[in-house]
Order: sequence, then structure tokens, then C-alpha cells
Amino acid sequence: MSAEHPQLEDLLEKFGHQEFKDGQREALRALLSGRDVIAILPTGAGKSLIYQLASQLLPGVTLVVTPLLALMSDQLEAMEEVGVKAVGFSSLYPETREALEGIKRGEIKLVYVTPEGATGGNLREELDDRPVSLFVVDEAHCISEWGYDFRPSYLQLGEVVEEVGRPPVLALTATATPWVRQDIARTLGMRDPLVVAHGFDRPNLFLQVHRLEQHEDERQVLEALLSGQVEAYTEEVSARIRRALEGPGLIYTNTTRAAEETAGWLKEMGIPAGYYHGRRRKSERERVQQDFMEGKLRVVVATNAFGMGIDKPDVRFVIHRDAPASLEAYYQEAGRAGRDGEFAFCCLLHKDEDLEKAAFMAGSSDLTLDEVRQVYQALRKIRRRELEDIQEETGLGRSLIVRALMALERSGFIRQEEDRILLTRKRFDPQQVSLEEEHA
Ligand code: ADP
Ligand code: MG
Repeated sequence: MSAEHPQLEDLLEKFGHQEFKDGQREALRALLSGRDVIAILPTGAGKSLIYQLASQLLPGVTLVVTPLLALMSDQLEAMEEVGVKAVGFSSLYPETREALEGIKRGEIKLVYVTPEGATGGNLREELDDRPVSLFVVDEAHCISEWGYDFRPSYLQLGEVVEEVGRPPVLALTATATPWVRQDIARTLGMRDPLVVAHGFDRPNLFLQVHRLEQHEDERQVLEALLSGQVEAYTEEVSARIRRALEGPGLIYTNTTRAAEETAGWLKEMGIPAGYYHGRRRKSERERVQQDFMEGKLRVVVATNAFGMGIDKPDVRFVIHRDAPASLEAYYQEAGRAGRDGEFAFCCLLHKDEDLEKAAFMAGSSDLTLDEVRQVYQALRKIRRRELEDIQEETGLGRSLIVRALMALERSGFIRQEEDRILLTRKRFDPQQVSLEEEHA
């Protein structure tokens, strides 16, 4: 790398950093050699640095599409701090003559736009024929999330890419299921993009799903776990899990009532436990949080209201009494265990109904069960299971199909492997789920 781009390390220093973080160098190298890149890196991984740095090495303009004006101002501020010239065009910051002149003279090489700004105006002319060397879409999952309803500009970004001369394209996001990834690549017209994904693996977390059998109830299972009745595949692993279950730990529930109920069970077992949810008074929530941080509580039972911004490195277990609404939510919540890198235990209690409900809640805003059924039936019928084929078979829009696939995947009806869609364990039975119920 250094041989190819000797300025890279110096530039990194200019941006105030000592060394590259996972994925940054790999993405940069590919972009600088002209390849499209999809970078899927967690929040805080330093995704912006990839294009900020590239912009200073490439001859033309780096155009960054960003969804929110707030993000745009943050970025402009950060660039000002490190002395990199950048401008943002939007309804709030209309193009000034000065900015346009700066771009024309090649002094400003980093230009932020909203998707509406990118598609609405006459970007090509505004850039006054300065070549665009790199086209970036930050928070690229917005394409799938918002493009199909209230921000249609997202769907036209592929045309803009062509319009500005088809430079390499960089898509950045922290969350992208395979479907969304496919959707991003197609919408932007990416060619054989390099997918850079890092930082999601948490090898110190022991993940387990406990499927509740007919005769078991949640209380029994929780009590068994917390009193150390654990059986893993070796005694050594069981012993580690038992130690982890001594806490500190978190138990997540989907409702405030279940949180209180569960905390009650633990207290009856003599376990110092508190509960935390959005309906408690702020002072009470703060006290629970503080007691947990200080080690006075072995367990906090909480809804998803708990966790944001809580950084306790030594959480040894996270148990989910209910399945959260999405895989991303699960990743976030279970991911609060073992931040210190030491062994930690994560357990999801699984009842079939729960998972299906959660899956549909997650994937189903303005999606009907009938549409999900159509997609599923199309999958059973067609051989090549590409989005286009499903589209042709069902006549549904791509957005609906993507969301239906996500719902089906999350509920375990289908699985994606090496870009193929596999039908899994069971037949889709729409009688089992009622969408009305979930939206209630
Ligand atoms: P993301 O968009 O992936 O959520 P950001 O680009 O906003 O992350 O960066 C998050 C933080 O990481 C910023 O404060 C940034 O300065 C810092 N950062 C980026 N790259 C590096 C690096 N190589 N070394 C140390 N810190 C970095
Ligand atoms: Mg970012």
C-alpha cells in the first residue's frame, strides 16, 4: 500500500490518526484502483475517513450523498478542524459563488449533497465540468429504507452516477442484510463491488438459543440458568457459562410488564435485580443504571429503552426473554455483553410464535401478509431466485419484495447462502401469524 500511495500515512496523520482501523485501508486501496466498494462497518468504525482521505488523493471532486443536514454540518465542522476544505449543498446551504469557484479551481475536492440536492438541481453544470472522481453514498441503507416511499431521490442516484461520468462508487452503511446490500448495489449500478465488512464478529460471546419446550415455562428456564444449571458441550464450557451467569448481566424483555415480572422472579430467588423501562420515572431509571454500573445490582431486567449510551465493559451475560424486533436489535442488545473482550454468555429464549411475530413486526410496515405469501409462493415456483425473477413472477415492486424477503428470512422460512435463496425448515403458513395483531 505504502508503495502505491506513499502519501497515505502522512495524510492519515493530517486527519489526526496514528493508524488505520479495520477496513479503511482495504476500502481505500480498492477505490483508488478504481473499484466500487460497499463498506459495512459498525457505527464509530470510521467509515467517513475512507472518502475524506480518498478525496485528498483523487484529482477530481468527491461527491458525498448524505441523508441528513445534521450529518452534513457535523462533517463540515470536522473537516474544518483538520483543515480540509469541504462544502455542503442543500436547501440550507445553497451553493455560493465562492464555493463554486473553489471547486472550479480544484481547491475544494470534498462536496456534500443530500439525495434531493444530487438529483434535483443541475449538479453536472454546477460543478462546472470538474470531473467527479468518487461518488459516495453514506448511510446507504437509506436507499432501501426510504427510497421507495418518502425519499424517491434515493432511487435516482444510479442515474446521477452515470451523469457525472461513472466514477468509482462507495456505499457506506452499518446495517445491511444481504437483500439490502443487493438493492444498494443495483440501485447505484455498482459493478462487482468489493464488500468490506469488519468488526461484527464478537468471538468472545457465547451465543445460545434456548428453545422452550412444551412443558417448560420462561420462569423455570431463567431460574435454572441463573442458579447455574447449565449444560454445554464440554464441562469446561459449562463452567465458564456458569461463572458468566454470576453477572453482572442484563435480561431483555419486549414489554414493561414482563420486565417488572421478571425482576420480581429474580428478587424471589434472592438475586439483587432492578428493572428499567421507559415508563419509569427518570430518577428511578438513573438510580437503577447507577446501581448496575456500581455493581450493586447483579441483574437489570429491561426493555430496549436500556442500553443506549451505557458502556459497562464487564457485562457477563445478556439473556433475551423475548426475541427483539430485528436481527440488528439483537446484535445491539446482545452486543452489550463482553465489551472488555472477556468471555460472555448470550442466550435467546425462543418460542416459535415470538420469533414470527418479531419478524413480521420488523419487516412489515405497510407490507401485507398477502404480499409476503405471494413472494414466498414465487420462491417455491421459480428456479433462479433473483430479485428480478421474483418481481416478474409476483408483479410486486422491488421494495415490497425486499421487505418481504427480510421478513421471511427473519422468521426462518428462507435463508440466503452464497447469494442463493434457500427455502428452509417449514412451509410458510400464513394462518400462524396475524398482522393485525402485531400492529395492535
Ligand atoms: P462511522 O461513520 O463509521 O460511524 P465516523 O466516520 O463518524 O464513523 O468516525 C468515528 C470516529 O472515529 C471519528 O471520531 C473519527 O475521527 C474516528 N476515526 C476514524 N478513523 C480513525 C482511525 N484510523 N484511528 C482512530 N480514530 C479514527
Ligand atoms: Mg457515518
